Amino acid sequence: MQILLVEDNQDHALLIQDLIGSAFSDDTSVHTEENLLPAMDLLSDKTFDICLCDLQLPDSSIGETIDRLKQIETCVPIIILTSINDENVAHKLLTYGMQDFLPKDELNINLLHRICTYAIKRKQQQILLEERTSDMEAFCRSLSHDFKGMVRRIGSSSKIIQEKLGEAITEELSDWFRLLDTNVNAIGALEKGLYDYLSTNNLAIVTTEVDLNVVVEEVCATLEGGEDQSYNIAVSELPSINGVRSQLFILFYNLIQNAIKYNENEPKINIAHQFNKKSHSHVITFKDNGIGMKEEYLKKIFSPFYRLHSDRKYQGSGLGLSIVKRIVENHGADIRVESKEGSGSCFFVSFSQLEH
Ligand code: ADP
Repeated sequence: MQILLVEDNQDHALLIQDLIGSAFSDDTSVHTEENLLPAMDLLSDKTFDICLCDLQLPDSSIGETIDRLKQIETCVPIIILTSINDENVAHKLLTYGMQDFLPKDELNINLLHRICTYAIKRKQQQILLEERTSDMEAFCRSLSHDFKGMVRRIGSSSKIIQEKLGEAITEELSDWFRLLDTNVNAIGALEKGLYDYLSTNNLAIVTTEVDLNVVVEEVCATLEGGEDQSYNIAVSELPSINGVRSQLFILFYNLIQNAIKYNENEPKINIAHQFNKKSHSHVITFKDNGIGMKEEYLKKIFSPFYRLHSDRKYQGSGLGLSIVKRIVENHGADIRVESKEGSGSCFFVSFSQLEH
């Protein structure tokens, strides 16, 4: 087995090398790097079976190490070596694909052996799963692309026939054409939903500072450009967060659009922000005065194609909230909803902030 140890403290490195010597067979070798950047180069090929990585390194502060590890693409499982104060950070790094963390003050032969062995197995399973998901998604993407072309052709054929019929079109025929157009639009919306769902499966996301006030403005401008019904929206001052701009737009768009759509009143939407000091997260709430939902459905609505209403009453593909959930997961965030039938709904999205 080949182990990459990224540790600048000589004493710690020697201690870990000793433990590795006792925990694994004789043919195990350890390559030690004191800096993160050369270690990251080494991680891009498959030479190593596992990497043990400290967070604070001479060429990379804890914050920089976090940002770099969040974006790394490697098939080598990475275990974070933690000191007493950075366990909280290491915990959060697990959501960005790190396999596990090892507190330096608790290191022993058994723990080291168990954690490394499981991490290697888990990473192999993860890669297998990612390959299968990626095949499946390529298949769906190609299907969705073919769909798009065919639906567009059906839509334009219908228009041509209507034009050719001109004055000769009867009331009954008009009804049939309306039904055809409604269904063509529904398949178009499904195809768009599928496209968004697939394109938001972004495991190694490149993030920037995104001002959520601007995102809301853009969403409202887009909604106003469409044919949606009128609505009132009140937005309190929102924070800027680290995220993927295009995905955050889709997240806000879907939640606001649902608040307008699932509503029998004049829609009133309230978007507010609170900072939760305990979880160190920005919580954004989307409150509406719409039709609400029964408690028993609140977890299920985030699954793809799960709808509570027929297409005749409220049009939709059933993909909106599953896309929202994916985006939330991509951002290491959380989403939950409180709702009561007839009394509106409130969605809570919590973006946790890493403490550097
Ligand atoms: P779609 O709107 O395309 O059906 P979604 O995934 O966005 O798909 O939503 C799933 C279901 O959750 C919807 O069909 C609807 O029944 C319910 N839902 C979503 N948002 C709200 C809301 N704000 N108020 C009431 N019901 C909602």
